[in-house]
Amino acid sequence: MSRLLQQLVSRQAEQRPDQTAIVYHQEKMTYGELEEGSNRLAHLLKEAGCAKGDRVCFLIPKTPAAIMTILGILKADCVYVPLDTSSPAPRLEKIIDACTPRFIIAGGQVISMLDQLMADEARRKGTAIGWIGDGDAQGSNFKARFTREDLNGYSSAQLDYRNDTTDAAHILFTSGSTGVPKGVVITHANVISFIDWAVGYFGTKPADKISAHPPLHFDLSTFDIYGTLSSGAQLHIVPTELNLAPQKLAAFIRESELTQWFSVPSVLNFMAKADVVKLNDFPSLERLLWCGEVFPTPPLIHWMQRLPHVKFTNLYGPTEATIASSYYSVPQCPADEHDQIPIGTACDGEELIVLDETLKPVPQGEIGDLFISGVGLSPGYWQDPEKTGAAFLQLPGTSDPADRIYKTGDLARVGEDGLVYYLGRADSQIKSRGYRIELGEIETALNALNQTEECAIVAINTAGFEGVAICCAYVPLKEEDTTPAKLRSALSKVLPNYMLPARWMSFERLPKNANGKIDRPKLREEFQNDGN
Ligand code: AMP
Repeated sequence: MSRLLQQLVSRQAEQRPDQTAIVYHQEKMTYGELEEGSNRLAHLLKEAGCAKGDRVCFLIPKTPAAIMTILGILKADCVYVPLDTSSPAPRLEKIIDACTPRFIIAGGQVISMLDQLMADEARRKGTAIGWIGDGDAQGSNFKARFTREDLNGYSSAQLDYRNDTTDAAHILFTSGSTGVPKGVVITHANVISFIDWAVGYFGTKPADKISAHPPLHFDLSTFDIYGTLSSGAQLHIVPTELNLAPQKLAAFIRESELTQWFSVPSVLNFMAKADVVKLNDFPSLERLLWCGEVFPTPPLIHWMQRLPHVKFTNLYGPTEATIASSYYSVPQCPADEHDQIPIGTACDGEELIVLDETLKPVPQGEIGDLFISGVGLSPGYWQDPEKTGAAFLQLPGTSDPADRIYKTGDLARVGEDGLVYYLGRADSQIKSRGYRIELGEIETALNALNQTEECAIVAINTAGFEGVAICCAYVPLKEEDTTPAKLRSALSKVLPNYMLPARWMSFERLPKNANGKIDRPKLREEFQNDGN
């Protein structure tokens, strides 16, 4: 029988309708309420013309209503596309225009954003607004087709689904090197394969209280949602504002009596630096998981020394292979700060393969390009066969779809212990505070401002919370009074905050290598020296 994500949650709702499913501040939503609300929304969407495969965006802060909306969209046989509420409108416009949604379901403090998005007549014609926040919603460029109150007029009964498990559940847009975000299509089966492995491996159970930390446009959040709600456990949404207050994050874990914490390492690093975790703190916590970037060994030691009762697991994987493809549970606290923590072994149904440039396996111990094959692999990028073809390949000499491989862009080696070790990137993709950023996207945005003769974006490692600093080298336009403040302000209107360069350097001309290309290693050196 084909399994769909929403069915995993419905099964729990049937068994425990009165159990709390989601907690956010003082608000609690039970499994029964989640089920009924999402059924009503699905009936409404279908009556409004939504059909199998239609895209529905949502622009809602991370709340129980947002998760209810996600399930409602799936139950209407549609594909959900999260929109980052903190992103500037021009970037969201690119995503909306790429996925041409039938609806944008919105809620929270997003009216002026919706007004900007709906200023375009063509967009207004193709896409209706649904309002899931409090009260009514109307801007100067839109009027909501439905409000939350209207849901009450729809049936809360279960629906018949038209989707198959290999159909798309969501599209997640990540940074694109040419300046246009790339939409990674993820199927129900992709997510369910990972959830099956993870729930079994971690032993998730109804008594669990699990954090929801990553934002909903980040694929890690799908583990929080479906891992928790398919197990009958409680999902505790971490309020975004706590990210700036490590003391409060620690209090949140303590007071919510979380049994599982999952986040990008920079949050854990931040908390370690602020020294907010006491010895034997968080007595309810059973496991602490991270994914998305390297968790440096010194803060890991700090955490493991403070919490000897907790299991620590490194998860590794790109969005294109769904949440995570490999894992490594650290058996004991590393003895040395220089010990490298492996990304480990493949999760069930996945394979990690290290190949050379001719796609032949490299000998054990040697560095190569890391490829992933198996059940997590996305069908490809949304309506982009060229990018899909460049990143998703067929292993030479094979024709079986199971031998389709995804080129991660990561460098790796297999150690003598048989475990895979991550050795950095082969391209200019970086991670800052866990966010995946293509430096090319920032450079394209900067060039489009027409305020510099020449510019280049490089990243350097730092000891700070971000782990890296995004640096901008530029040659000002002769006739203009170009300053970093002006460039930053102009960029902030088109890029999210986490993509804005932190360091700036003005040049008469950018250094070039023998081929006449911008000498990026030299620029990195200049910024590194400038910081010392
Ligand atoms: P994303 O698609 O945002 O999940 O980013 C995927 C990329 O993040 C990978 O290709 C790696 O470069 C990096 N990454 C993910 N998990 C880890 C990890 N556990 N250790 C090191 N890098 C990681």
